[in-house]
Amino acid sequence: MKRRDFFKSFSSVALLGALPSIVKSKDQKPEYNWKMVTTWPKNFPGLGTGAQYLADTIQKLSGGRIKVTVYGAGELVPAFEIFDAVSNGVAELGHGSAYYWKGKNDTFQFFSTVPFGMSSNEMNAWLYKGGGMELWEQAYSDFNLIPTAAGNTGVQMGGWFNKEINSIQDLKGLKMRIPGLGGEVLRRAGGTPVNLPGGELFTALKTGTIDATEWVSPYNDLAFGLHKAAKYYYYPGWHEPGTTLECFINKEKFLELPEDLKQIVLGASKIANLDMLCEFISRNNDALHILQNKHKVDIRPYPKEVLKELYEISGNVVKELSLKNDFAKEVYNSYTSFQEKTKAWNEISIKSYLNI
Ligand code: CA
Repeated sequence: MKRRDFFKSFSSVALLGALPSIVKSKDQKPEYNWKMVTTWPKNFPGLGTGAQYLADTIQKLSGGRIKVTVYGAGELVPAFEIFDAVSNGVAELGHGSAYYWKGKNDTFQFFSTVPFGMSSNEMNAWLYKGGGMELWEQAYSDFNLIPTAAGNTGVQMGGWFNKEINSIQDLKGLKMRIPGLGGEVLRRAGGTPVNLPGGELFTALKTGTIDATEWVSPYNDLAFGLHKAAKYYYYPGWHEPGTTLECFINKEKFLELPEDLKQIVLGASKIANLDMLCEFISRNNDALHILQNKHKVDIRPYPKEVLKELYEISGNVVKELSLKNDFAKEVYNSYTSFQEKTKAWNEISIKSYLNI
């Protein structure tokens, strides 16, 4: 094998390719036939492929003892019904993001992302080593579910606009697709937030049904052709600084597993969490290059004053979340104190390094 091909194949299969002796999924009759329902179209770039990667990883690491069949949004249950479906045992696994279930409990949003909240590295550190995972488990326990972090988009982009954003006044009256807490922040800044599924964004923006939209980052935004529907591409994605994707597991089905398979399911989620982030960073690098050099997109930073005002509004919106009940306060305190502490270390580590 050529050296280049060796490294290519090594990096793409990573750990899984290095474990041929325990991978015998073709011969092994599955002991557990599991279903994974997702909020994404099947194999949707980054998110849907991330769900499939997790399913494949569980299957391979278990030597075929667990077989996981992935269902795209609407194939078994509609996108926004997967939480209930796994809670009720219709499927064993679900793949989405916790802010989709804010109707169940507003506090869930801290386990996805919050405006001006933590970056992907900080989120992972809070979840795995800062007490976040335990709070998330507590939150989902009422719904008969065990959550895992199973992917991250990294910092997103601010969005696509057809007019310049020079001051907070330019957001007044602006009809923008921006879901969740970011949408609430826009509303308080005088804009009109709307939520639309990704597949409708291009047409809505092109026909003027909406004035602006955020989606994800260069990789996904280029795939939808959003640069053909808007003039300006603003950064950064203050509203989604490091969105965590999740896998949730039906609790009874999980507890039925022998100990080694339990560890395999949890370990596979950690592998998938890292893999998706790497995929987004790598693909964003390439897509940004195409947007800049081939499509000559006007890519701009939000003015500092605009970010400062959005930051203040966001602080109020997130703080209000914490006042809903004792558990919300506990999660808010854990999240914000971790973020506050990490600032001092960031200042003399990553920030000072990148400034060079
Ligand atoms: Ca987004």
